Amino acid sequence: MILFDFEYERPNTLEEAVALLDRAGDDARLLAGGTDLLPNMRVEITTPGLLVSLGGIEPKPPEPLADGSIRLDALSHLADLERSSLVQDAHPMLAESIRAVGSNQTREMGTLGGNLCQEARCLYLNQKHDYQFAAPCYKRGGDCCYPFPNNASDICWAVYASDIAPALIALRAEIEILSSTGVHRIDASALFTGDGMRPLSLGPAEIVRAVVVPPAPPRSGWGYHKSTVRGGLEYAMAIMAVVLEADKDRKTCTDARIILGAVRQGPVRSQVAEEALAGGPLDAATIAKAAKDASRAVRPFPHHGYSVMHMIETIRVYLQRTLGAAAERASGGSGP
Ligand SMILES: Cc1cc2nc3c(=O)[nH]c(=O)nc-3n(C[C@H](O)[C@H](O)[C@H](O)COP(=O)(O)OP(=O)(O)OC[C@H]3O[C@@H](n4cnc5c(N)ncnc54)[C@H](O)[C@@H]3O)c2cc1C
Ligand code: SF4
Repeated sequence: MILFDFEYERPNTLEEAVALLDRAGDDARLLAGGTDLLPNMRVEITTPGLLVSLGGIEPKPPEPLADGSIRLDALSHLADLERSSLVQDAHPMLAESIRAVGSNQTREMGTLGGNLCQEARCLYLNQKHDYQFAAPCYKRGGDCCYPFPNNASDICWAVYASDIAPALIALRAEIEILSSTGVHRIDASALFTGDGMRPLSLGPAEIVRAVVVPPAPPRSGWGYHKSTVRGGLEYAMAIMAVVLEADKDRKTCTDARIILGAVRQGPVRSQVAEEALAGGPLDAATIAKAAKDASRAVRPFPHHGYSVMHMIETIRVYLQRTLGAAAERASGGSGP
């Protein structure tokens, strides 16, 4: 398939990359592994006039920081992070979420920054223009939304499906962003707008430079699950990332972070389930109720062929199991 014409630059530093983006404005895109961007360019979801490749910049390996956090270079290939013993030992949930992304080949090419900054997906949007029914949808400047015809012109229900973002939010990670004015850090959750039209809060000349993950709290346990119909090489139907903290008796939950992914335009924090768990016993009945309440409260979108009822029931069943795994770890067990 022949792509449209575009300019290509390969800077040697991130600062040079920012300067190039600054000059080009909205017409430029960063190219990291290209595993999300290039398919999107092929179907003309995005048609940049300039590609700024990050391929000439060597990522730093994962590094431990003095306060016990770990710092991950956003340009790191996912396969390198997956193999990192630092990542595996400090945050097994993060390692599991990275392993959940696509195939080995995707993870060898794909980067952490690219994974977080991936485009939202919808069955209509992800068709080649020639195969689309008639006209571009709202997201591409058209005047319709085929899967959701009742949507207003400023509403897009494309689903954000990064496998890693929910795990990072559950782990209270921060994102380091580089722009022409310097570096600043935001909570991982603040990277996402919850708006399908423009799911990321990044400006056109801002680069995700690193991800900093703080140490796991004492007596905490994690659980992660990605639901797909066929397992590997498949975007998620739903993702659950959970961190539960226990008090000294290891039977009572003191804090819960429950993040659901691939159900709406951005990762969603399930406050209803967090409130149901925090302060209560880490037992099966409390967990089952929290999972049931969360599955309804999130109001998942039907997407990629999955109905709302199927999504709700999938979330209920797997969130219950995921919370169970986290509770077992928080209680001192090794998990399933
Ligand atoms: C067959 C296939 C299966 C896939 N399966 C999954 C899956 O199961 N789960 C999943 O999460 N993803 C999946 N993906 C999507 C994608 O491959 C991964 O998310 C990958 O990590 C994207 O990284 P990349 O470096 O290739 O990004 P690119 O394609 O290079 O970039 C993606 C977007 O991020 C921007 N970008 C890249 N780096 C930065 C940065 N540092 N700062 C700011 N913006 C940046 C780019 O401009 C672009 O808009 C799949 C892709 C394919 C082709
Ligand atoms: S949900 Fe969004 S991306 Fe999909 S057709 Fe509607 S406007 Fe377009």
